Amino acid sequence: MDRIETKASGGCQCGAVRWHVTAVNDSSHICHCRMCQKAAGNFFAALIGVPRDALTWTRGAPATFASSDKASRGFCRDCGTPLTYDYHESRHINLTTGSFDEPARFAPKMQFGIEGQLPAFANLPIQAEGTTESTMSSVVGVIRASNHQHPDRDTARWPE
Ligand SMILES: [Zn+2]
Ligand SMILES: [Zn+2]
Repeated sequence: MDRIETKASGGCQCGAVRWHVTAVNDSSHICHCRMCQKAAGNFFAALIGVPRDALTWTRGAPATFASSDKASRGFCRDCGTPLTYDYHESRHINLTTGSFDEPARFAPKMQFGIEGQLPAFANLPIQAEGTTESTMSSVVGVIRASNHQHPDRDTARWPE
């Protein structure tokens, strides 16, 4: 993924967590997968990869939830704003594009997790890269096997 040298800042809704980057990957995208939907509390997550060496937390730091054994989701512990998707083995971490101070600079170019896409978003003019199964085939099994996300139904106890 092409690295773009640029400067940008952002953070959560309440301001307790702020970050600064000196580069981003040319990978602004939305992901419709069920785990991104849940983590974002929305119909999809909007994310962009950032090289780990280009990211500085300038105020506070995100709390994290291990959505599987392979990845965690970062958010502000005070206001709940989703901030990161961190696939641990990757050289980059994803920031939520909506948490940028100027999100319009990083408009999405790709869509992932098409299996979770709502029909209302079927005709977005953004290139569809495929399903989670097809784009993450080498790790999707491990993620599913260690999925820590609550199922999409009420449970008497949690964790089960
Ligand atoms: Zn906050
Ligand atoms: Zn996803």
